[in-house]
Amino acid sequence: MKRSYLFVLLICVLVTGLIWFMSRAPLLKEGSVALNTQTRIISIQSFDDIRSELNRGNPDTLVVFDVDDVLITYKDLVLRPCGACFRPVSWSDIDPNEIPYLMSIMLGTAQRMLVEPAIPQLIKELQDRGVKTIALTAARTGKFGVIENAEDWRVNVLKQFNIDFSISIPQKQIIYFDDEGKNESDYSLFKNGIIFLGNEKQTKGDLLVRFLKQVQLKPRKVFFIDDKMSNVIPVEAALRQYGIPFQGYHYKGVEMLPGKLDVQGAEVQFACLRKDHKWLSDLEAKKEEKCLLAPHQ
Ligand SMILES: [Mg+2]
Repeated sequence: MKRSYLFVLLICVLVTGLIWFMSRAPLLKEGSVALNTQTRIISIQSFDDIRSELNRGNPDTLVVFDVDDVLITYKDLVLRPCGACFRPVSWSDIDPNEIPYLMSIMLGTAQRMLVEPAIPQLIKELQDRGVKTIALTAARTGKFGVIENAEDWRVNVLKQFNIDFSISIPQKQIIYFDDEGKNESDYSLFKNGIIFLGNEKQTKGDLLVRFLKQVQLKPRKVFFIDDKMSNVIPVEAALRQYGIPFQGYHYKGVEMLPGKLDVQGAEVQFACLRKDHKWLSDLEAKKEEKCLLAPHQ
């Protein structure tokens, strides 16, 4: 009786072990890839999560920051990611030729803020340690509506928040990645420590590798922080192909900011933009609801 009990127990253990092994087999087969994937791209909600990791960098390390919704964002909620679903509707029946003009008024007037107050200090700490820091943004370049030079405007916006990327890789000449003579806007370039994508002809990954080749820089490791996974993945792929170790961070800090999109207020803001060519802040929009009801010109 006792022997049969032990035999049944042994069979149970063996069957349980076999089931466990079968369930793990696919993971074991792909283990290294899955593990590497997990360590190459990580989601973070705050720079506090990676401050110590970044501070372990050295002059052979390159830290690349996206700008919008990573370093700075808008105070007006409709211009943050939470307003992304609303914005296309607001442009739907406007003359396409008028959109850049109206967008430039909107983006030029709307107030910005740091996503996290400690960001300028973090960048400065890295720069003081000799860690190379640059920005990589999909922002426009050249003339954009009422903004004469979008890249200079962007550089100055960052300077207002004490963020200056021109220190790590000083470059007297602007590096143009396109024939800028053919267009007056949306060309790719590197200026004041910021790589501007400017158009959608290439990914951030392709442009970053072109930049590294151009300035003959091959870091031992690149850290890249962007709020869009659709940018982190191409950068990871391009750097892997170029043979540079990579650590990507999908940054979600902007989603942690307080506030809820007020759709009626957003309608007021876009109605006033279209009618009066004027952008209202969230606070002003609450006071100007009459614009919502006024007919469009
Ligand atoms: Mg962004």
